[in-house]
Amino acid sequence: MSDNCCSTTSAGSEVCELPSATIQHKSHSEVFCPECKQKGKVVQGQTVKALLSVSLRSIQDTDYYFCRTQSCPIVYYSADSKSVFTTSQLRERVYQKEPSADDVFVCYCFKHTVSEIRNASPESRVEMVNDINTGIQANQCACDLRNPQGSCCLGNVRGLMKQTEQVSAQS
Ligand SMILES: [Zn+2]
Repeated sequence: MSDNCCSTTSAGSEVCELPSATIQHKSHSEVFCPECKQKGKVVQGQTVKALLSVSLRSIQDTDYYFCRTQSCPIVYYSADSKSVFTTSQLRERVYQKEPSADDVFVCYCFKHTVSEIRNASPESRVEMVNDINTGIQANQCACDLRNPQGSCCLGNVRGLMKQTEQVSAQS
């Protein structure tokens, strides 16, 4: 018997069913950032640990939420707001906080920056998305450890591409 989840089954499925990250969403829907008062998104503990540049002794054993508000300095906060971490306490610059900065990553796993995506031709944009998808399928991504938002970058990549296309269509 093989443990390979990608081994061909009688159904002929070649799609690898990766176990999706299991985050309990029970009471997480309405937790607001103490600074900007916007609703945050719960992240896995390993994301906060991987992204912080400060001593992890200051981390609390609780759920943390990600604040995506651009003007807000807080990146992670606990539900009781007693523990917060700001952009200066992270190892990475956060795309949501600096969406216009050329050298900030949009795709943290495969290292695609804002300027790279902006300046890419329509053809190379398609290639870039395909390449990211290929990386995901090859299990080479680590969004939970690399991307400050703790989840896949593809939505942000596609969003920025769309935005760029709209701007160039207007000019
Ligand atoms: Zn905030």
